[in-house]
Amino acid sequence: MASEEARNRNIDAILDRAVENFARSIPAGTIKSNVEFEMHAGMRPRIIRSSNGKCCAWCSSVAGEYYADEAPDDIYKRHDNCNCTVTYISEKGRQDAHTKAWIRQEEVEARRARIAGDMKRIQELRNDETARKVSRKIIDRENRAKRDIIQAIGKPKAKVHLIPKKINVDEFSFNGYHINSVRGHGVTFSEAKKLIQESDVSVSVWDGNVERYYGENGVVYVNLPEKRIDTAFKKAEFTGDTLKVMEVIEKYGLR
Ligand SMILES: [Zn+2]
Repeated sequence: MASEEARNRNIDAILDRAVENFARSIPAGTIKSNVEFEMHAGMRPRIIRSSNGKCCAWCSSVAGEYYADEAPDDIYKRHDNCNCTVTYISEKGRQDAHTKAWIRQEEVEARRARIAGDMKRIQELRNDETARKVSRKIIDRENRAKRDIIQAIGKPKAKVHLIPKKINVDEFSFNGYHINSVRGHGVTFSEAKKLIQESDVSVSVWDGNVERYYGENGVVYVNLPEKRIDTAFKKAEFTGDTLKVMEVIEKYGLR
């Protein structure tokens, strides 16, 4: 049926725009590392995400209150013009995950109350076939992208970050001897930093000890506990698994 076809095309267009927006969404770097730090220190920080039900279907679907270690992967993700707030609550206090501003308890309660709006929106979406299809398609598409990247690198336990894991590169050292003398890759420290900052996706391997940053112009492997850049190579040297990862990035428009 022609009208059905037109409707599907329409859904695809909405989907493409949404995915494009997510590629530009804002990560909350330092908050995320706080979570990891405090988990180690035996604390259990919490996260509240809410939008009053006036944002998009996807945003309503991730709204809620969570323990930070049990929150959805994309809890910090926001698209353009997103009105969602993400609140981070730890023993140190209450903080906005995006602005990093400290906030009062009354504001936390107001944000918590907004979750009800999202739950209402979810209820409405259950009755709206088109919206349901769109939000589910976005999530499916992201999951397929992650699966394909894991397949490309051949490490089933890897964890893919469609928004590259934020690190403060200035705290990292550079294994220049290994990268340039042993491997002959010819990448400088500042080039490696730039490749990390411009990367499209990152992938955690070796139980999260190594983060690989994949971008159009180069790839960098970082040892997180040692805070050291261990491997870096440019586009001209892409082979095998790396090329496959680049294909997935292109296929899903993650760039
Ligand atoms: Zn939102």
